[in-house]
Amino acid sequence: MTDVEKLLQLLKNKHKLVAMLAPSFPIMYDSAKIISQLRALGFEKVVEVSVGAKETNRQLGEYMKANPEKRLITSPCASFVRFIRTKHPEFVKYLALNVDSPMVATTKIVKEKYPDHLPVFIGPCIVKKLEASEDYPELNILVLTYKELESVFSQLLPSTPYTLNPTPSLDLSECSTRMYPTDGGLADSSGIRNIIGNDAVKVVSGYKNCETALIEFQNNPKIKLLDILFCEEGCINGPGITSTLSIDERKKRITDYALNGNPANS
Ligand code: SF4
Repeated sequence: MTDVEKLLQLLKNKHKLVAMLAPSFPIMYDSAKIISQLRALGFEKVVEVSVGAKETNRQLGEYMKANPEKRLITSPCASFVRFIRTKHPEFVKYLALNVDSPMVATTKIVKEKYPDHLPVFIGPCIVKKLEASEDYPELNILVLTYKELESVFSQLLPSTPYTLNPTPSLDLSECSTRMYPTDGGLADSSGIRNIIGNDAVKVVSGYKNCETALIEFQNNPKIKLLDILFCEEGCINGPGITSTLSIDERKKRITDYALNGNPANS
């Protein structure tokens, strides 16, 4: 059964579901419309993964404060984690695997608040499916890309009319980490530079730059944190996005939403 088929089945069975929208969603969707559409489909709760990103930042900051001698490579990018595990296992020791990714942190928060609901992560990344199934099977996260969500919409929305709520509210929301899917989003929103110093943070994105970044990290002990994402410019360029927008236009969408996004319940 594909993940789209799994979601269709869950919706048909009226399972209690939480949609967890990755912070890149404004590239593809108007926020008011997507929240209204998800609720019309049958999602009882709609939350932002930026909520978990704030927790990711908190965990990383606490760890680096408690372990000032440590040098770390960020771990929210499921592709980069797999790249290290398979191609450069000698760097595994640097991966901040004790810090939850935004998807995992959001899921843990959701499970605590809505224990009888199933978390459905909706985002730009196909490799998040592996993070969920291989690294966190106990959390039972269903992962769909935006492309797959489009397929669900095309199958169900024509027969499920929805009313557009101009000011729909999210069940869980966090503004401070809405820039997370851009490269350097973690470093910028976490305040980590205030803890370890500006020069100790290196931001890199793009698979072509990963090898060079690892060599630099190895040769330059002044780098305490390598904030790295496998897609060029970050998750805003993820493979699960269908968009003709340029990178600058995508960034603008994310920035606009970060500054002027929907009012939220919490
Ligand atoms: S940078 Fe790309 S591969 Fe990495 S988590 Fe984001 S979308 Fe996935």
